[in-house]
Amino acid sequence: MLDKLVIANRGEIALRILRACKELGIKTVAVHSTADRDLKHVLLADESVCIGPARSIDSYLNIPRIISAAEITGAVAIHPGYGFLSENADFAEQVERSGFIFVGPKAETIRLMGDKVSAISAMKKAGVPCVPGSDGPLDDDEAKNKSFAKRIGYPVIIKASGGGGGRGMRVVRSENELTEAIAMTRAEAKSCFNNDMVYMEKYLENPRHIEVQILADGQGGAIHLGERDCSMQRRHQKVVEEAPAPGITEEMRKYIGERCTRACLEINYRGAGTFEFLYENGEFYFIEMNTRIQVEHPVTEMITGIDLIKEQLRIAAGQPLSFSQKDIQIRGHAVECRINAEDPVRFLPCPGTITRFHSPGGMGIRWESHIYTGYTVPPYYDSMIGKLIAYGENRDVAISRMRNALSELIIDGIKTNIPLHQEIMTDENFKKGGANIHYLEKKLGLQ
Ligand code: ADP
Repeated sequence: MLDKLVIANRGEIALRILRACKELGIKTVAVHSTADRDLKHVLLADESVCIGPARSIDSYLNIPRIISAAEITGAVAIHPGYGFLSENADFAEQVERSGFIFVGPKAETIRLMGDKVSAISAMKKAGVPCVPGSDGPLDDDEAKNKSFAKRIGYPVIIKASGGGGGRGMRVVRSENELTEAIAMTRAEAKSCFNNDMVYMEKYLENPRHIEVQILADGQGGAIHLGERDCSMQRRHQKVVEEAPAPGITEEMRKYIGERCTRACLEINYRGAGTFEFLYENGEFYFIEMNTRIQVEHPVTEMITGIDLIKEQLRIAAGQPLSFSQKDIQIRGHAVECRINAEDPVRFLPCPGTITRFHSPGGMGIRWESHIYTGYTVPPYYDSMIGKLIAYGENRDVAISRMRNALSELIIDGIKTNIPLHQEIMTDENFKKGGANIHYLEKKLGLQ
């Protein structure tokens, strides 16, 4: 096993990684900004190193400082968590060049999948179903672009190859908007992602977001752990996730899961990863791969009984997968609510001091969070302060446990989106299952 590991992240995921390390007997080093001295995992870690001022660019995104922290503490590996540097191929490369283990895929894999045009072309080659599209970058040949769009059929969507976070996309509904939309997306892509490559896809009107969790050891072993439904979104940000996805049959799971595991072997994938799909009229369409652990990983853990972070650490230590596909059994249903420090009506972040905190409990309830009474949520980072996960033998039980747990969860002193989750959990269409990615925004009157 790994001897000592740097947790290059903050908040709930840093605490989640720390707990997994403790179970495996791995010593931990917390690296933190000056604003994060009081984070729970910093207080619980074996060692901690302050790596800079509050602004992420000076701390959690500062590659030399993180690598120096590993050097001075004698750590052997670095776990990037999600967000920050987790999908930065240069970081993975520098970590490995400096003689440390990066808990994740090889830099070249991150690079391949981080560029959407190259990711789609690799996935197509591996037999993963993709959205009909331009099959490569667009140039400025107007006639050619118009004929692409005609072949695909309007509406189409112009997307930045280097895009992320739901930015750098433009829907085009008719030919007279096309040329300008390409130029605008290109300009935006250049300024936001320093990469002006754009491509075209069919715009799916009412899809669901369904994603497949995989684990691969980079030594010829790859399995999938079923799918999650993350269609409850606001501004392309996930709000509620669940596993399995309502209405997905065992045959469909096998069909899409097998294609994902085959693709992992094809690109020699190592670590945990997620294939994201849009799902419409019974068909899956690949949109991108996340080469890291995701926020919503606990719902998969609840229905499979597999600790994904521990598996990441075992893979990073060079161990082959200790189970095969037939060992993966899906049991019951799990739902996750992302709890944010934000105004539930206007959705503005709401940092501040938590004056009273009470966590929910009971059968099937899991609370992943770093907060405590007296903790001050800093204004510098993402507003998510915890994840509430409810498990049950079926979806109805999981939802009803979630409703109870939300009513027990008390976070005073700051505003949170708990009321929004309470509303979703009693929504008739959510309860039916299978709502599409626009449902929540329409319900909130945002579309
Ligand atoms: P990002 O990396 O910015 O998250 P994605 O490619 O994952 O970008 O797309 C984010 C979201 O944008 C999707 O979940 C979906 O809501 C919407 N989207 C992307 N591509 C399409 C498409 N071809 N048709 C319809 N919606 C799309």
